Amino acid sequence: MNYDIIIIGGGLLGTATAYQLAKRKAGKILLLDGNEIASQASSRAACLLTRARTKPALMELVQETYDCIDEIEQLLGESLELQQCGSVTIASSEASLKGVEALESAANDFGIPNERISQKRVKELLPWINETAADVAVYMPTDAFIDSALLCSGYARAAKALGVELRTNCKVRSIQTEGGRISGVELPDGEMISAPVVVNAAGSWANLLMRPLGVGLPFTPVRSHFWITGIDKQRFPVNHPFSVIPDARAFTRSDVGALIIGLRESQCQSFDPSTMTDQLQDFDFNKAAKWEVLDECAPLLKRFLPDIEDLGIAHYMAGPSCYVPDAMFIIGPVSKYEGLFTVTGCCGGGVAAGGGMGRLAAELITGEKPFVSPGLFAPERFGEVDPFSAEFQKRCADARSNKKGG
Ligand SMILES: Cc1cc2nc3c(=O)[nH]c(=O)nc-3n(C[C@H](O)[C@H](O)[C@H](O)COP(=O)(O)OP(=O)(O)OC[C@H]3O[C@@H](n4cnc5c(N)ncnc54)[C@H](O)[C@@H]3O)c2cc1C
Repeated sequence: MNYDIIIIGGGLLGTATAYQLAKRKAGKILLLDGNEIASQASSRAACLLTRARTKPALMELVQETYDCIDEIEQLLGESLELQQCGSVTIASSEASLKGVEALESAANDFGIPNERISQKRVKELLPWINETAADVAVYMPTDAFIDSALLCSGYARAAKALGVELRTNCKVRSIQTEGGRISGVELPDGEMISAPVVVNAAGSWANLLMRPLGVGLPFTPVRSHFWITGIDKQRFPVNHPFSVIPDARAFTRSDVGALIIGLRESQCQSFDPSTMTDQLQDFDFNKAAKWEVLDECAPLLKRFLPDIEDLGIAHYMAGPSCYVPDAMFIIGPVSKYEGLFTVTGCCGGGVAAGGGMGRLAAELITGEKPFVSPGLFAPERFGEVDPFSAEFQKRCADARSNKKGG
């Protein structure tokens, strides 16, 4: 079988790339996933679509995701259920105030509505909060969240409607090359599928496919996680704004009358990719450690959510996010083989930025003028790296440890 482009991975990044390529009529495209579409990291996200970022290119990528949502809703004639709840970012220290000022300035430059709000207004928007701890608060009314699995399925179905072939439960065993060029992929039963272009969007598993080619992508999977309280619709009104609280290394989001609480520990768990099984449900996220993380982080959040220790925790969700030492994504060609591209290294932002990441990947594949500077995301910007070494994994994990933003 011959294709023009094969995409490996049916998570947010692979499906968004498929959609963007199909939109550009890039040829005969096949997307393969070893599991179901949206069944891995892309169904475990907290789903925040945070618009304001201090790096302008990231705001462009996020805006593209919002644009994709509109386009796909029109194409499919159905709603992807974007919840425009707004966000409140809170600063209660000198350091976080500087961060909030930088965000305000970036938001103003990019035209993202934002306003400083009083403690009274903070309490109206976030009924669960001790508003007196919020020294400075910025409200951004156009921020939103979206069910990440539904968004991923939207990209996939839109890509299919535009002609992309999707094959699920079809794992790629290896990427094939001939004389320094990509020639296709091999399946576990020995079947060969030919294509001059292969896009590795295999998320946490991307380096396992690159290893036999002597290519190391500069990321490691680290554990991201959040907790969900029991339902209390008065304190946690449906679709109230999500909050970002850098002083507590925390974020919160409404979840049908419960509160999602995301906390970032000072030393996050990272994974040697070679130890990862094919499906996250088999994977050890060291769930016992969730209590240790709560013990470490809850005291920081207590100032804002005084009864955090008494809140019933109904659920815990953990999954891998692919972190890069400079906390920027990995998008573009891999120069060692003509026709090899990657879109990965999501740095915990694939829901928000996936549409833009897919667009940049598609533009680089088709030779269009890129809409953001590709150098920021170039796969080889760190030189040669060994993602299977403990030292490099620690470098990546350090980029995630103590993360404060949304
Ligand atoms: C707890 C948590 C909270 C998060 N919160 C947010 C948030 O609020 N906002 C935000 O923007 N982002 C968030 N993220 C990040 C977001 O979920 C990821 O950026 C996104 O899901 C990454 O998508 P992906 O396509 O790279 O990976 P995945 O969804 O894991 O997809 C990779 C796919 O590749 C397939 N695959 C792997 N190897 C092969 C192979 N050999 N052959 C065929 N297929 C293969 C897998 O089956 C899988 O389906 C969060 C993540 C977690 C874990």
